[in-house]
Amino acid sequence: MNQLEQAKAELESLNAELESRVKARTDALADSNEQIQTEKKLLRDLINNIPDYIFIKDADSVYLACNTAMENYFGVPESEIVGKTDFAFVDATTAEFFRQRDKEAMASSSISVNEELITYPDGQQFYLETIKVPFKDDQQRIRGLIGVGRNITERKQADQKLELAAKVFSHAREGIMITDASGTILDVNDTFTRITGYSHKEAVGQNPRLFKSNHQSPEFYSVMWSTLLEKGHWYGEIWNRHKNGSEYAEMITISAVTNTLGQVQNYVALFTDITLIKEHQQELEHIAHYDALTGLPNRVLLTDRLHQAMLRSKRCNHSLAVVYLDLDGFKSVNDNYGHQVGDDLLMAISKRMKIALREGDTLARIGGDEFVALLVDLEQVTNCEQILERLLQAASSLITLENSELQLSASIGVTVYPQDDVDADQLIRHADQSMYIAKQEGKNRFHIFDISQDVAIKSKQASLENINRALVEREFILHYQPKVNINSGQVIGAEALIRWQHPERGLLSPADFLPIIENHPLAVQLGEWVINTALTQIREWQSAGLHIPISVNIGAKQFQQADFVERMTALLAFYSDIQPGYLELEVLETSALEDLSAIAEKIKACREMGIRFALDDFGTGFCSLTYLRHLPVDVLKIDQSFVRDMLEDPDDLAIVKGVIGLANTFSRQVIAEGVESISHANMLVSMGCELAQGYGIALPMPAEQMLYWVNKWHSEGRWKA
Ligand code: C2E
Ligand code: MG
Ligand code: MG
Repeated sequence: MNQLEQAKAELESLNAELESRVKARTDALADSNEQIQTEKKLLRDLINNIPDYIFIKDADSVYLACNTAMENYFGVPESEIVGKTDFAFVDATTAEFFRQRDKEAMASSSISVNEELITYPDGQQFYLETIKVPFKDDQQRIRGLIGVGRNITERKQADQKLELAAKVFSHAREGIMITDASGTILDVNDTFTRITGYSHKEAVGQNPRLFKSNHQSPEFYSVMWSTLLEKGHWYGEIWNRHKNGSEYAEMITISAVTNTLGQVQNYVALFTDITLIKEHQQELEHIAHYDALTGLPNRVLLTDRLHQAMLRSKRCNHSLAVVYLDLDGFKSVNDNYGHQVGDDLLMAISKRMKIALREGDTLARIGGDEFVALLVDLEQVTNCEQILERLLQAASSLITLENSELQLSASIGVTVYPQDDVDADQLIRHADQSMYIAKQEGKNRFHIFDISQDVAIKSKQASLENINRALVEREFILHYQPKVNINSGQVIGAEALIRWQHPERGLLSPADFLPIIENHPLAVQLGEWVINTALTQIREWQSAGLHIPISVNIGAKQFQQADFVERMTALLAFYSDIQPGYLELEVLETSALEDLSAIAEKIKACREMGIRFALDDFGTGFCSLTYLRHLPVDVLKIDQSFVRDMLEDPDDLAIVKGVIGLANTFSRQVIAEGVESISHANMLVSMGCELAQGYGIALPMPAEQMLYWVNKWHSEGRWKA
């Protein structure tokens, strides 16, 4: 091979070598460019995916580049942002503000952080946090800045919330205590310290047991904890102990704070000091339950204790005595020494009486000088007698007040429960009634309530109801007993006598039921029924041809009614077809007629209407002569007791004679009751009394038998002198 060829070959080889190197180099260059492009894209993506606003500005605050967040913020693509300043996108004030901040950042030549509340013209506000870093050229000249902006509005709001919470915590008027799940105190506020006396430092790390007082039972706390765990909160009142040892009451709400899994993380307790309210409440309760003068329980508390004692008494099979005590002659102390001394005396006596009782007994003041004691847990009724004696002694002990020695006594009424098995009010009433008996029996003594007597009173009550019912059911009837003139044989009238046709007990006479209603309004009602029935009877008999007056007995209660005359007037007006003279009213001489002149007026008024009057049972009362003198009656009825026995008893005979004489002297008619035989009749006629009524003439009979009887009486001509 020649040199030329060799050189050529070398050259070719060199060329190939060069070519391959160039290719390798070109390939390598292409690769690196591609890598750069990839890395550049990666970087770009990274920056664009950052939610913060990222931007680069030159020294004149002209945008050089920005990320997607920035595009979204201004609402235009990067290409439209680059080359412009903030003045192109936001209002001038905000733009100017940004520019100033840019300048400051570039002047400081280090990282500057700003936080500003931005307000847009539309009023929208948000917090923007910006970090700006200046960048320089090789000659250390500032060329611009790189900025990162972030909307921190939410964080700001959260901060503000926290700040507010902290303020609430420290300024709250309530004490606040936060513990962890195990109850260890984590934080407390100032009010906590003010209420408990423990500083923040002293409290944190401790357990709330620190404040525990002995007011609450272990059960109280176990209920509190179970409620707290079950419901997540508890509230109530607790008495706690202050650091200085005193006790205070608080109204507290405890809430459990749980995490998202529902596990308790903290307990928060809010409480207020209610000691003053409690004290005031206790004061009010005291006023409501205790007597201001003596400090003894008042009626309200007494009633409450009585109820409780009654329950316990039944449970334990023990008796309970209700003791009603009234001081004798206390009024005269007030009158003679003044109210102050009276008050002092009450205080002194109540102290002594309290000492006379046992522990567990109650002494209450229920009014002026009236006290009630409850003696509880009596195994035997007689057990209380000793205590009663002690009470009497205490009430009658000598007491020195303002240099005067005073001594009273007490009258005591007692009833024992459950022997006296009534309710609380009635127990007090029974004791009160017995106290009155003690007073009547001479004071300075006790009287124990008589249950059997009470039963009698109760049965009276029952019969009152029965009588009322009988009146409604028309069980009363009138029988009539004829009155005759023994001389002429003439039937001169009939007396209406009431009977009760009792569905079970048969025909009852007035003595069986009239005494029960004697002072009861029913007496008036029944009396009116009698007059009405009698008037109807007069009419019936008259239409049957029998023209006789009927006399009606009239009770004191009825006669003393204020409107008696008016009612009689109305009645007679109703029976206008009957002459009032056919009605005679018999007033019992023994009836306790008060205010004689008023009675006399009534009799006068009725007589003016034509009604006749008789003085019944004359001679049996104390005031026969007084009545005779004052009451303008037409007839005197000599009481049957004198007439019946006059044949054997000269005294009775003398009385009968005397009454007949009086009647003549005072120009009154006279009629004898209780004429049981012809001998009676003869004797009466011989003394000048012709009118008579009695079993010897006729027994009281039903109305329908009267016609028959009158006919028979006349036809037989018996007793005709
Ligand atoms: P009184 O008004 O003196 O009536 C006479 C009583 O003596 C009657 O008793 C009569 O049955 C009874 N009697 C009549 N003749 C004889 C006799 O010869 N011997 C005996 N031993 N007794 C005789 P009665 O019906 O039981 O009435 C008793 C009293 O009840 C009456 O005494 C009268 O005070 C009162 N009374 C009767 N009915 C009424 C009435 O409707 N209203 C009022 N307020 N009282 C009445
Ligand atoms: Mg009579
Ligand atoms: Mg009579």
